Order: sequence, then C-alpha cells, then structure tokens
Amino acid sequence: MTKKSIFKAERIANPDVSGWLTDHAVIVEDGVITAVEPSANLTSANDSYEVFDLGNVSLLPGLIDAHSHMHCSATHDAQSLAMRENNQQLTIRATNNMRKAVLAGTTTVRDLGSRNEVAFAVHQMIEDRHVPGPRLLLAGTPITITAGHCWFFGTEADTEDQVRTAIRTQVKLGANVIKMMATGGMFTPTANPRTPQYSVDVLKAAVEEAHRMNVPIVTHTLSAQGVRNVVDAGVDHLIHARWYHADPSKGLDYTPDTVKKMVDQGQWVDPTIGHHLLGTEAKQRGEIGPLEPHWAVSYKVVPEEEHLETLTNMHDSGVRFTTGLDMGMAYGTHDRSAANAWALVEYLSWPTWKAINAATIGTAEALGLAKQVGSLQTGMAADLAAFAGDPAENIRDMDQASTVVQSGRLLKLNNNVLV
Ligand SMILES: [Zn+2]
Repeated sequence: MTKKSIFKAERIANPDVSGWLTDHAVIVEDGVITAVEPSANLTSANDSYEVFDLGNVSLLPGLIDAHSHMHCSATHDAQSLAMRENNQQLTIRATNNMRKAVLAGTTTVRDLGSRNEVAFAVHQMIEDRHVPGPRLLLAGTPITITAGHCWFFGTEADTEDQVRTAIRTQVKLGANVIKMMATGGMFTPTANPRTPQYSVDVLKAAVEEAHRMNVPIVTHTLSAQGVRNVVDAGVDHLIHARWYHADPSKGLDYTPDTVKKMVDQGQWVDPTIGHHLLGTEAKQRGEIGPLEPHWAVSYKVVPEEEHLETLTNMHDSGVRFTTGLDMGMAYGTHDRSAANAWALVEYLSWPTWKAINAATIGTAEALGLAKQVGSLQTGMAADLAAFAGDPAENIRDMDQASTVVQSGRLLKLNNNVLV
C-alpha cells in the first residue's frame, strides 16, 4: 500500500463525533489524517493517492477500550484458566486476543492487568509490526494486597512502602498507567468485594507516587467504602464504581456527597456494563454464563437495576463515563468492545451519538490521547473503523468492523483480513 490514501464513505463521523458528514473522504498521508472533505472536492491533484471507496458504510474513528486483560480467555472459566496457565500459553492467547480486538475496529486499548512477561512482550511485538494489534496503554501487573483480588496475576503489596515500590517497578518495566485493586473482587475467593483492601493513607501515597512518575492511577472499586476511599485519595479513574454495603446482608450504600466530590475532582468512571450485557446474553443463549460471584455479594444479590440506578445518578450528577469492557473476563470477548456503547444505549437510555462519542473521542480524552486519536480530523492518527449499516440509527450496527485502518495501515478491507 502506498503511503498516501483516501477513504471515501457515504457516512463519516464529524469532528465532534456527534453526527454524519455525507459522501466525504478521509485523506491520509504517512499514517496521519491530512484532510476530511466532500468526495466531490477531490481533484486530479489526488491522483497520486490510492483510493478506497467504501461505499454505503459508516466510517468512525477506531473504537477505544479503557479496560482489557489481554491474556484472559473470556470463557466462563476465564479466571481459573488465568490462574493455572503458564506465561507461554498466556502470551499466545494475548497475541491472538489483541489481533481480534484491532480487526473488530478497536484501535486503542488500555490493558488494566496482565502478567508483565505477557503484556510488555506482546506490546513490543505489535509496535515492531510482527503481529497486528491495537495501540496499547499498559498497567503491567495490577497491584493488590496479599491474597487480594487477582493476586494470581498481580503484584502483592500491603504497606505504603511496598505499594510505592510496586508502582516504581511497573513504571520501570514500561507501564504508562497504574492499576490498583482498592477492594476485593467477584471471583477471588480470598478477596471480599464488599470491603476495601487499602486505607485512604496508602491510596494517597499510591496516587502521589504514580503522579510523581507522571502516570495516572486507576482503581478496581466495588464497595461503597472503597469508592469513598479512592475519591478521598484522588485517584484518576474508578473501575466499576459499585456501591456494595460492607454488611453482606445489605444491598448498596450510595453516598451523593462522595459523587459530588468525584465530579469536582474530574474523576472518570468505567461502568463495565457492556461486559454484563454480553454475559447476560450468553446465559440467554443457553451457555453456562459467568461464574457465581463471591459469597459476600451473592449472600444478598443486588438486582442489576439497582446498580444501573446508581450509574444514572452518578451520570446525572456530572460524572463522565469511559468505555471499558473488562475484555477477557467471562464473555467479554476482545472483539466486542462495541458492546460498551450498546449497554449505554440499552441499559442507561443514552442517545446513540452520545454512546458512540463515549466509545471514541470521550474515552480518548479520559486516556489523555485526545490529541492523537478518537476523532477524524486533520492531524489525528488515521485510525478508522467502518461499519455496515448506521449505528446512529441502530447502535448494534456498530459491531465487527468491515474495514479497519490503524495509523494509516490497512488491516482489513470490506471484511477481508489483510494481515
Ligand atoms: Zn478488569
């Protein structure tokens, strides 16, 4: 392929990712968008370009996913597999998963926890173009307490000193984001999701250390007290942000004052409801479905509607949401990042463009990448994903991309994989 190319389509997302430009063309040189203009304006000066007329498709910026575990299988037993497989097995799967992600149209992925030997090696192979994969931000191993959530692929660190050392070590290895498990989790038997794993003081030290090294810090947070702790500590993003009461016989413990502080501090939330949607549909299809959650949560099962209500309350209060699938966890297959937008529309009643915006330019902003990716404008990386149909009419039309371009490199054209 030449270094100069033009991609024409009937519908192209406008610069704000809020509506369509019809019959436009994206002009690309050396991996960067140099112009977006009406196809009718193309002149003979463009003769030196290779032209791809994609026809009746919707051309969007490549999707952005803020939450992946590249080495996990996304099968119902994903967690137990990750526990017993060796680094070679996990590396092979991670390579394949990242290939699937980018070929589905997800051109940027933030991996929030995979073994270092896997994540950094796969990243290097993608960067060197030995294997196709998305642009990656990496946390390396998540930081957790001894026997804490995901200890089996994390770095265990209990005290303030240990946490500081763990953060420094991840950054030294190449991490550009820090992931901490602020509470227990659903599938780690020794880690109660309803209670915090770290005190506010240790979390504050972690935030200070990460920011000193100029990397953001993101926390897995399921319990109400955990949410209050990470908000007080000033972490950058909250993952899940669920409000489980510490008492397993009770439901949720939502505190609006905490949410107000979250908004004032500009803390983003990744609601991870796309993953829930895929798990629910798998069960409806007759598959095994996700594993039963931790006893402390299943003791009093909170209906999903109550979680959705707290998410709507948070959003109405001004909290912004990223699109992160929790790729790799049960039924969160790496080629289904689009389900994040489906869930925002179908579960939270968002307008389609608002959800498409979140999955592109919105999450690019949260990840600090808004000057590089997330919209189709002059100067941005040429990361493109074309979808048959019109996602603005039906959000489910945004699914497996038919054409994918990453940094100007054509990876898939009209459903033909080229790499
Ligand atoms: Zn996760």
